Amino acid sequence: MTRYLLDVVENRSIGEYERAGGYQGLGKALSMEPGQVIEEVKKSGLRGRGGAGFPTGMKWMFAAGDPKSPKYIACNADEGEPGTFKDKAILDENPHLLIEGMAIAGHALKAELGYIYLRGEYLKEKDILETAISQARASGYLGENIMGSGKRFDVHVHLGAGAYICGEETALIDSLEGKRGQPRLKPPFPVNSGLWGSPTIVNNVETLANLPFIVREGAGRYVRIGDPGCPGNKLFPVSGHVERPGVYELPMGTTLREIIYEHAGGIKNGKTLKAVIPGGISAPVLPPGLIDCPMDFVSVQKQGSMLGSGGVMVFDEDTCIVRVAHRALEFFERESCGKCTPCREGTGWLRGILERIETRQGREGDIRLLEDVSKNITGNTFCPLGDGAAAAVLGFLMHFREEFAEHIKNGCPFGPDDLNPYHYNPVQP
Ligand code: SF4
Repeated sequence: MTRYLLDVVENRSIGEYERAGGYQGLGKALSMEPGQVIEEVKKSGLRGRGGAGFPTGMKWMFAAGDPKSPKYIACNADEGEPGTFKDKAILDENPHLLIEGMAIAGHALKAELGYIYLRGEYLKEKDILETAISQARASGYLGENIMGSGKRFDVHVHLGAGAYICGEETALIDSLEGKRGQPRLKPPFPVNSGLWGSPTIVNNVETLANLPFIVREGAGRYVRIGDPGCPGNKLFPVSGHVERPGVYELPMGTTLREIIYEHAGGIKNGKTLKAVIPGGISAPVLPPGLIDCPMDFVSVQKQGSMLGSGGVMVFDEDTCIVRVAHRALEFFERESCGKCTPCREGTGWLRGILERIETRQGREGDIRLLEDVSKNITGNTFCPLGDGAAAAVLGFLMHFREEFAEHIKNGCPFGPDDLNPYHYNPVQP
């Protein structure tokens, strides 16, 4: 199997990276016209790896077609969703891949400056990136005259402050501009009016890390990897009750079953699978009967969930689903930026109802109420955070309704919550 995201470099050094073919993609891109690079990316069928899956080449075309300048490249490295730690693997193991990808994007978009918006907690990765950027500048891959081409491109790292919402592209832009990070009303989209009103491409770390391979090896080779409708490799961070949690680089379209049972070693301690969240906490849960689903944008959606970030969260037979739902909603409530009412109020309502169900105070009608509140959030918010919270709750209810009803009737049968003992009221005899 071809690996090009994680297995290229052992020790992050620029020399190792160069010996493995690093920066050859940038050299090739600089020998092409910017429009040719965009065409190659379009032909590759690369889709954004941050969650939405928007075609990258098309996004670039919109920005390139806007006559305004300057243009900017913003790398979204604000990886804050529970269950998602794939970008961290690239930053930790192969930072030059990202820098090369940004420089290729810079050439294609005729941008001279790029920013890496880094999750506030990724302090180690900040040091790694800054070292790698210095090495790239010293070697002529960044700076005034990159690879002797006469073109300028440089990259700066901007550390966030730990807000999940800054992973939404317009909130990220506001935060980079020094404002409070909250989503903007769209349109206009960042491709036309992003950083300081200029056309800005916001691409995820993993998306940008695909570019060196696409340009160096050509779109023709790239489209033969993975699913024909959604080519390339995908990083799958696997967490939860598996024998070997970790980040796996696999062709897009690998089934959930293969990821869980072959690569992650199966369910821990010989237990059985109860549920899996396939794409980070915003992706609706799937029951064991659906794990033959190929992990690509279209197939996962057909099963009523979404590929999202590809963060696979695995739960065994001893997991209380109400507790998982409650913890997810604690996250969404805390991270809601508060700009729009359905999300600000609704996430708090959902968390509160789930809390009382889990603590033996559930009322008849609570399941209907959860559905009502979720449906009132859906489609009525500024950004996908509210929709994600509602979709998560509706997914839990769709596949584990009986477990919620049982909690309301008889209390939680799963014993104390080790992480949060105050949330547990034992079942009365
Ligand atoms: Fe903020 Fe939530 Fe509205 Fe998004 S949906 S803008 S996070 S309040």
